Amino acid sequence: MARSPIASTAGGVALPRSLGGEGFRYRLRNLVAPMGSNDVRVTMDDITALAKRRGFMFQSSEIYGGINGFWDYGPLGSVLKRNVKNAWWRDTVELRDDVVGFDSSIIMHPLTWKASGHVDAFHDKLVDCKVCKHRFRFDHLKDPNQCPDCGSKASFTEPRNFNLMMRTQIGPMEDSASSAYLRPETAQGIFVNFKNVFQSARKKPPFGIAQIGKSFRNEITPGNFTFRVREFEQAELEYFVPDDGRDMDIFQEWVARRKAWYASYGIAEERLRFYELTPQERPHYAKAGVDVEYLFPWGWGELESIAHRGTYDLDAHMALSGKDLRFFDEAAKQHYTPLLIESSAGMDRTTLTFLVDAYEKQVITGADGKSSERVVLHFHPQIAPVQVAVFALARNKPELVQGAKRIEATLRPLFRTQYDEGNIGQLYRRQDEIGTPYCLVFDYDSLEDGKVTVRDRDAMTQERVAIDALVGYLHGAMTGAAR
Ligand SMILES: [Zn+2]
Repeated sequence: MARSPIASTAGGVALPRSLGGEGFRYRLRNLVAPMGSNDVRVTMDDITALAKRRGFMFQSSEIYGGINGFWDYGPLGSVLKRNVKNAWWRDTVELRDDVVGFDSSIIMHPLTWKASGHVDAFHDKLVDCKVCKHRFRFDHLKDPNQCPDCGSKASFTEPRNFNLMMRTQIGPMEDSASSAYLRPETAQGIFVNFKNVFQSARKKPPFGIAQIGKSFRNEITPGNFTFRVREFEQAELEYFVPDDGRDMDIFQEWVARRKAWYASYGIAEERLRFYELTPQERPHYAKAGVDVEYLFPWGWGELESIAHRGTYDLDAHMALSGKDLRFFDEAAKQHYTPLLIESSAGMDRTTLTFLVDAYEKQVITGADGKSSERVVLHFHPQIAPVQVAVFALARNKPELVQGAKRIEATLRPLFRTQYDEGNIGQLYRRQDEIGTPYCLVFDYDSLEDGKVTVRDRDAMTQERVAIDALVGYLHGAMTGAAR
């Protein structure tokens, strides 16, 4: 386990995860985390420029000047994010017989957030500068006595609590009875309908409930592109285990499984760390916690937290609702509350991680001996928005266009494909920039020999492959490719 150099000093401000403590603690740690050796590998300017140019992410409502903390995913970004979510869902739900899916509503009964602690304690400390009137998160200030915007000293108000939940109202009456919140996390939807799920699915611990969905947090200072945002998507697994002494083993198994997941989709090991929380950093009821962090160009950023939360969440809902959410153990003839092991990952952050991690700027030497620069995204084939691009060598030769289009139509039901035509060198560069692992070229020889050129994105090697054998070739190349 990689350990943060300041873990012990950050520990003093830990709050329970569901009370927003993680953000406070992690961000504090991030501010002082040493920059890695990758800070020249890629900058956030490289990423944001590429994202806009190629259609991964755009500012939300850009024609009106944008809105801080909200982002849109473009034609390629929406597919990229969907692939990331599908990869999580496949590994966490589809490949397991002990995890079921769930999809709860965004707006829930307001008492949910009372029980979870969000109403009373989900806040950040906020200060205002009395001189320039700007507002800051207290824990973000480098110097708590000097305004970073106007430079005034001792100009801050006393820190005060700011609840991060977004409010809305239900129905036509604007009174307190109609007031509700957009959920700040998806987990509570699982807890409050926990009994319906396990009874209908006929499950008993150990078993899990998984959900991917939107959550909302009124971040005071959104930033770092799509990393700290006000509307985001979470993938959460709530895994319930009996209190029979195996809970820590099961916790470690989930940590190992999540580690394997990132590795299997090619995230560089040296830019990922699994930070084990100290007892001081964990909420009082939690038995263990591991944060998954990635080394972004600005420093370490949290992608996921894996936590052993004991019976805290179900206990809280049982206490406020008065409903019994316990299991009945047939063998022991008694009721018990299962322990909870949770994995909670941010899908926007993970999508950004795939983009940043895949990025490489290379200097390549052409056949003519001239060197040039290429930008390439080394996406895993399952993550790549486009898997196979098919080109016609010349756009003004109908037999080439027809041949290429026929191949693309054959491959389309099996792979994510794209057809294009024109200058092959330029087409390669474009596909490299969006991370397409394989490009096929239909040329004059193809008309004679029934073969196309297959070009590999990473090695830039080219191979002639029979058109009849393409499906098997591509399947083999993609399932065998590590990255
Ligand atoms: Zn100021």
